[in-house]
Amino acid sequence: MYTEDDLLQISALQHALFCERQYVLIHLEQVWEENSFTAEGRVLHERVDTVHRESRRLFKQEYGMAVRSLQFGLVGKCDLVELWYTKDGNVEKISPVEFKRGRKKADDIDRVQLCAQVLCLEEMFGITIENGQFYYLQERRRTNEVIDTPLREKTIMLIERVMEICEKGETIAAIYKKRKCDNCSLLDLCMPKTTGAGYKQVDRFIKSQLRIAEKNNAETS
Ligand code: SF4
Repeated sequence: MYTEDDLLQISALQHALFCERQYVLIHLEQVWEENSFTAEGRVLHERVDTVHRESRRLFKQEYGMAVRSLQFGLVGKCDLVELWYTKDGNVEKISPVEFKRGRKKADDIDRVQLCAQVLCLEEMFGITIENGQFYYLQERRRTNEVIDTPLREKTIMLIERVMEICEKGETIAAIYKKRKCDNCSLLDLCMPKTTGAGYKQVDRFIKSQLRIAEKNNAETS
């Protein structure tokens, strides 16, 4: 069991899955740069947080619900949690709903976030949650996501990996990948083309050549 001080932000999982260096820069080195993508996402989530709550006798919507899991060491916030109750007032079904800009993505970054929320909600309410939902702004409809075993395993492995990076506290070298880096909010601060692994190899080569030249000069003088 983790303590309150050891909890990992759910957003850290998304950042680490996108790029481990991005996770380190944002969560360990506290660097943050907003771009048009993150600004749109932030405005969308602020709007979601202020939306009116719907409540009927056996159904309730909770916007901006704080969640956490001491078992998995997670803390975060759900855009929307829908709860269904039995007649005697017990929660019988829960479904988190995440609001996203754009369209459904091919990678698992959004799905891992939803699964992490489910792990928290399951611990908080003591029930099994089989599904969550996304609302993608460009598609203007909800899509159902099954929280299956492979997704749970992937999420738990990612949590372990992020905890490991956090414990080591090392900055991870940048590796420039056009598709990722050109869309990354930290591109200008990270400078992957000049500070990446390729640059370090060149830097090491130049330094070794300088050492050889110095040694040759010393031997001939
Ligand atoms: S610019 Fe590229 S390497 Fe740097 S944090 Fe962003 S995705 Fe990672």
